[in-house]
Amino acid sequence: MQIIHYPDPRLLSAAQPVEEITDGIRAKVELMFELMYEGQGVGLAAPQVAWGARIFVMNPAGSQEEPDQQRVVLNPKILRRKGREWGEEGCLSIPGVTVDVERSTRVVVQYTDLEGQQQELSLSDFEARVFQHELDHLDGILILHRMTEADKIKSREVVEKLKRNQTP
Ligand code: ZN
Repeated sequence: MQIIHYPDPRLLSAAQPVEEITDGIRAKVELMFELMYEGQGVGLAAPQVAWGARIFVMNPAGSQEEPDQQRVVLNPKILRRKGREWGEEGCLSIPGVTVDVERSTRVVVQYTDLEGQQQELSLSDFEARVFQHELDHLDGILILHRMTEADKIKSREVVEKLKRNQTP
């Protein structure tokens, strides 16, 4: 398993709902956490490892030392949103690019955890931002789609470089 990079088309399509939690899924989730920490990320979505499932992992603390902040999120939904806020975001699939993205400040979310339990909780600030970023991945949406005109100009060179480095 490895992290794929923009403009790989597998990052741009919608992922499929998870019907059943299998050992195979649990093993892949373990690997995703490893890759996320290795890349010093705070979240990683299945499409980023070329897996078309509605699953992501996150840890807003970005550290294995704080495992209680880890979440495994299956089939997520945002039920309610409140407030808007700009903040800087990067993405493990778009190395070298950080852009400002507007997100909801507070979200009430619903998802299934790795034990098959339905969760409903309220997230705010950075944790809410990470959740929204990862949920976007499941719909084939990247920060490049949400960035401002100013960031498009600022990031143009890096984005063009990423496009040229694509391996067939
Ligand atoms: Zn990302």
